[in-house]
Amino acid sequence: MYDVNEVRKDFPILSRTVYGKPLIYLDNGATTQKPRCVVDSIADEYYSVNANVHRGVHFLSQQATELHEAARETVRRFVHAGSVSEIVFTRGTTESINLVASSFVCSQMKAGDEVIVSVMEHHSNIVPWQLQAERYGIVLKVIPMNDKGELLLDEYARLFSERTKLVAVTHVSNVLGTVNPVKRMIEMAHGYGVPVLVDGAQSIPHIPVDVQELDADFYVFSGHKVYGPTGMGVLYGKEKWLDRLPPYQGGGEMIQKVTFEKTTFNELPFKFEAGTPDYIGSTALAKALDYVSAIGMDQIAAYEHELTCYAMRRLKEIPDMRIFGEADQKGSVISFLVGNIHHFDMGTLLDRLGIAVRTGHHCAEPLMDRLGIEGTVRVSFALYNTKDEIDILAQGIERVVEMFC
Ligand code: PMP
Repeated sequence: MYDVNEVRKDFPILSRTVYGKPLIYLDNGATTQKPRCVVDSIADEYYSVNANVHRGVHFLSQQATELHEAARETVRRFVHAGSVSEIVFTRGTTESINLVASSFVCSQMKAGDEVIVSVMEHHSNIVPWQLQAERYGIVLKVIPMNDKGELLLDEYARLFSERTKLVAVTHVSNVLGTVNPVKRMIEMAHGYGVPVLVDGAQSIPHIPVDVQELDADFYVFSGHKVYGPTGMGVLYGKEKWLDRLPPYQGGGEMIQKVTFEKTTFNELPFKFEAGTPDYIGSTALAKALDYVSAIGMDQIAAYEHELTCYAMRRLKEIPDMRIFGEADQKGSVISFLVGNIHHFDMGTLLDRLGIAVRTGHHCAEPLMDRLGIEGTVRVSFALYNTKDEIDILAQGIERVVEMFC
């Protein structure tokens, strides 16, 4: 196991205080903190290499292009894609899903065709489909779950019809922590000839992912949740699918030849990357992926699993604790409520103790409806959190509870 105290030294922000208390950052599901190598990469590239990529004959442009394309190769290796042409850079998970929704629905679906999503999706894997549904008359079907927060695979199987054209499902729930059996779900969908998009926003930072092993048709994630920069994301798509989809946006970079009569498009992945890409961000994302790879995704998964089990034990000792999401396969996210204390009050008072948690519906309102609640308090762990921090969290919750008694 890696030395968490050594790792923490790589994240300068972790040594700051909030309201005079040491920061305890437990909002990693929203975004992770950045190691020095990621922040340095941004400054270094601006200071020493900055030039627009792909089009320049001059030295800097070529060097920036090499870095940008090397970053694509790093991403390919990280998710084990077959080819760099299957790695599209986007602004994040949200844009990746919007890209697929926009290009897939208009080219592969007709009115009355169906997309299957699950009840535990983030809004960013619901609303893009609804926007297309309004425009093209497609229908959304929803996989239900049990009270532990596990998707019901029998019900899932029953949702397929000859009108089903795509499944879009999250790998790990950002509220319940459930690790969905996406490999099995993809196998089932492929049995009906249906491709699958996996939302990897909450899996990529925490567990090893091999898109070929999963046989995912599309796999999307955000850089900022895996210790990388904001505004940087990835769409992995099987070449056979990306080839079939029309461009998402038009502009420079994505074209081969433009005339006023007709435009032809660039090869993959550039067909989907209109305009100047975030070449500074791609290099920084690659640094982040190299950073977690050096620690080892297996090690990170094992360490976070231990943390989560410990936190579940500690939190369950607190009277009137209600935990939402007790799946057998659970990632490092815990949502809870205590007694009648409003999630917002709990979050605000924990904040005063230096403990950063998230409160509210977590962009998953349909899931809140299923749970019959308005919101939860959510703690989400990263590779740098410790058991000591969890003890302080548990004590903090107990203090808040006392204040309300
Ligand atoms: N899907 C899931 C499961 C998420 O947790 C999030 C972020 N909370 C997103 C999608 C959206 O990610 P982003 O805002 O980085 O595009």
